Amino acid sequence: MKINLIEKSRIDDVDFTNLTFGKIFTDHMFISEYKNGKWSSGEIRPYKNISVSPSARVLHYGQAIFEGMKCFKSEDDDLFLFRPDENFKRFNKSSQRLAIPEIDEKIFFNGLNKLLKIDSEWIKKGFGNALYIRPFVYASEPSINASEANEYTFLIICSPSKSYYGDMEISVKIEEKYSRAAKGGVGYAKAAGNYAAAFYPTKLAIEQGFQQIIWTDSNNHNAIEEAGTMNLFFVIGNKLITSPTSDSILDGITRKSIIELAKFYGIDVYEREITIDEIIKEHKSGNLKEIFGSGTAVVVLPIKSFGHRDQLYTLNSEKNSISSFLKEKLNNIQYNISNDFENWKYKIN
Ligand SMILES: *Cc1c(COP(=O)(O)O)cnc(C)c1O
Repeated sequence: MKINLIEKSRIDDVDFTNLTFGKIFTDHMFISEYKNGKWSSGEIRPYKNISVSPSARVLHYGQAIFEGMKCFKSEDDDLFLFRPDENFKRFNKSSQRLAIPEIDEKIFFNGLNKLLKIDSEWIKKGFGNALYIRPFVYASEPSINASEANEYTFLIICSPSKSYYGDMEISVKIEEKYSRAAKGGVGYAKAAGNYAAAFYPTKLAIEQGFQQIIWTDSNNHNAIEEAGTMNLFFVIGNKLITSPTSDSILDGITRKSIIELAKFYGIDVYEREITIDEIIKEHKSGNLKEIFGSGTAVVVLPIKSFGHRDQLYTLNSEKNSISSFLKEKLNNIQYNISNDFENWKYKIN
């Protein structure tokens, strides 16, 4: 692999105690290009601007997908990824849906390993600290013909992060007008355009005092799907409930892990449809104990209230919440503190 290192690191200019999510990037990036039917083995380059043709198809038709994963540093200075094989599989599943050629496992993991080793100083120890990793691919071919491209660029960039929302709890709006995804659409893929379509309804929700949206099914707007960038869990009585994945719900790796962890610790978990009617009814009778989101960026994020039409429903704060229990168990695995689920850990070496 060709490696071109920067002359002087920018790391001394970075205040690691005060990071805004996704603003600062490490010294290097990995790049591979797809031309003439194959991906190049790729190279490491300094993180800097890339040149894109004004007619690159991604700029016109949004043919692009991405992943989000994290690298953690243990107390022994070892670097761990959390279930990156799952991110790799989903990367190609998303690619397939957007008619993007799949990438070889070797290119993906060689690039990732090399890049993380080179920029390892950017990963800090301690709970909440991690390196957020953003692999993505876009249609780079210069042509505005409305069909899939013949040329693509794959990049991995990395951004040091503190837990996305810190320790805060958020308030969410149940959306009954706009949809994020529909049956047969691209909701299950990490397609760039899914986010673009969510920005306007989310902006309206923020103006109304919420932080995120809860998306409901596009037919009846009654079955709960997921939140902006997170899957959703509900604690009703002592049962943990989450919607089953479908083609309009992103199959989150954190979601999957939470389900497995909960089962492992003897919590009653159900993957079944859950509706607005049900959560309002359970809230009224006092059975709705917790709502939380799950995703790589936030890990687990408690939701303190939800808005439906003109009503705001607030949850009582739970002392020994299931969400904080599961978050701790998950963090302990990610930072290699616990020995549970060893097969979820991928050590960089
Ligand atoms: C990435 C993503 C999630 C969370 O998935 P994780 O694998 O847990 O990070 C949830 N919903 C949407 C729409 C996403 O894009």
